[in-house]
Amino acid sequence: MRMKIRYFDHAATTMVKEEVVKEMLPYFSLEYGNASSLYTLGRKARKAVEEAREKVAKAIGAKPKEIYFTSCGSEADNLALKGIAYHNQKKGKHIITSKIEHPAILETCKTLEKQGFEVTYLNVDENGFISLQELEASIRQDTILISIMFANNEIGTLQPIYEIGNIARKHHILFHTDSVQAVGNVEIDVEKMQIDALSMSAHKFYGPKGVGVLYVREGVEFDRIQDGGHQEKNKRAGTENVAGIVGLGKAIELATKNIEEYQKKLTNLREEYFSQIEEKIPNYKINGDRIKRLPGNANVSFEGIEGEELLLKLDEKGICASAGSACSSGSPTPSHVLLAIGLKPELAYGSLRISLGEENTKEDIDFLVEQLVEIIPKLRK
Ligand SMILES: *Cc1c(COP(=O)(O)O)cnc(C)c1O
Repeated sequence: MRMKIRYFDHAATTMVKEEVVKEMLPYFSLEYGNASSLYTLGRKARKAVEEAREKVAKAIGAKPKEIYFTSCGSEADNLALKGIAYHNQKKGKHIITSKIEHPAILETCKTLEKQGFEVTYLNVDENGFISLQELEASIRQDTILISIMFANNEIGTLQPIYEIGNIARKHHILFHTDSVQAVGNVEIDVEKMQIDALSMSAHKFYGPKGVGVLYVREGVEFDRIQDGGHQEKNKRAGTENVAGIVGLGKAIELATKNIEEYQKKLTNLREEYFSQIEEKIPNYKINGDRIKRLPGNANVSFEGIEGEELLLKLDEKGICASAGSACSSGSPTPSHVLLAIGLKPELAYGSLRISLGEENTKEDIDFLVEQLVEIIPKLRK
């Protein structure tokens, strides 16, 4: 018999909801048309893609024509940064981002630096917030883009997006935000928040892997980075992943419908976890802000242990969690995010991230803490 799996890693990926799978299935078989074909079979695929586009637009307060489908969140980040940078390089070559971005942003910035762009990486404070003063002070004549993530994938910190949008607008600089962790967890309105470009990824909100979105405000121009056909208004060549796009559309519709209830549920479970740790395990530190964080994110460092060792012990009990982020596991250096908030390497190595979701219950939390209470003292010896 398969051991009961207790999944606490929703920031890494999520299970595709049954309703989402159901909507996708016909597009693998009966409705297999190419969305660019003119006959009825193709037009049906086109209609499905456009319906999904409308759902995405509605979920973030955008217009359907501002939505571009991509192959993942990473591609959306690449397209936003490179597309905007290349298009605006005559205006200027300076970009502002933060030290705690996802590798999809940081590595893209490194590539742009090699191509002659200059990048300012803003510091964050001990809770993971950028400073609005530092942001404003780093704006130059040649600044063309500010890219700051909505919610951090490791420590859950929610940046002051509205205020960043305000500053960007005041200085006539474009504002992109990697919102891959935020969509489905936090309400987003690109108008109110003055966001010019935004990335998301379906597999982080109970949709399929391998499909993402870049929103770009109407009137904001950007270059395409993948050459080929004219798909996605000539901004992203490649035959549309129709089933994936349909799944993304359904998933975002479901995710935004019950968002308040979902937030409440996850926040309660998270607080239950924090209070059980407080009660039962000495010498720990909560990473990220106590309040302004993703509802389901709990990142805790336990003194005197190795996060990866802890993960393996938890895995023996059927528990899926993360030490730092999935992208950096296996690498010997501590997480760049935990170092940026000023953690000593010993504490950074001993961090455990849990990210809660739909299926989690209080009983899961009880079980997890029970295991931690047993394992941590042994690892500390
Ligand atoms: C997961 C993630 C990405 C990458 O999305 P993929 O669809 O897996 O490429 C980018 N940014 C953040 C913040 C993420 O959590």
